[in-house]
Amino acid sequence: MKYCKKGKHHVPAEGFNKSKKAADGLQSYCRDCQKSVHKETWPGFYEENRDKRVENTTQWKKSNPEKVAAYDKKRYETIKAQTPYPVLPDYKEVVFEFYGASCMKGGSTQDLTIDHIIPIANGGEHGIWNMQVLCRTCNNKKRELDQTDYRPWPRLLDRKVA
Ligand SMILES: [Zn+2]
Ligand SMILES: [Zn+2]
Repeated sequence: MKYCKKGKHHVPAEGFNKSKKAADGLQSYCRDCQKSVHKETWPGFYEENRDKRVENTTQWKKSNPEKVAAYDKKRYETIKAQTPYPVLPDYKEVVFEFYGASCMKGGSTQDLTIDHIIPIANGGEHGIWNMQVLCRTCNNKKRELDQTDYRPWPRLLDRKVA
């Protein structure tokens, strides 16, 4: 059992997402509490019907521009805090060059995005060792807290912490 800081309750270790940074390798909020935090930030995200979910999120974004701006700002600051080295403005090109410019899941070469394998929201770092190439379709299917690594050779790029 591990103590969840958010819910102030004890949850079996399997109920926590992994975190490379934590001493025990687990996040400090349990998965359910993480989900509820996320739910408060993005109402409509967990709707069953995906189209409805997207529509609700889009509408919510439109009617809450200041919340979106605050979220973006926070995300930017989190990214900055979790970036151990300066990131070039053209880092996407560098990642495409390094990994090849095709989706690592489905192989598409259209509409490519850079995905953070361990999401930034989950403490993932903004570094090439935590990036993979996914097309927008595959990236959208990957949920916020999903940490699937689609790279064929992930271990070579695990960051060595000095
Ligand atoms: Zn909890
Ligand atoms: Zn794809």
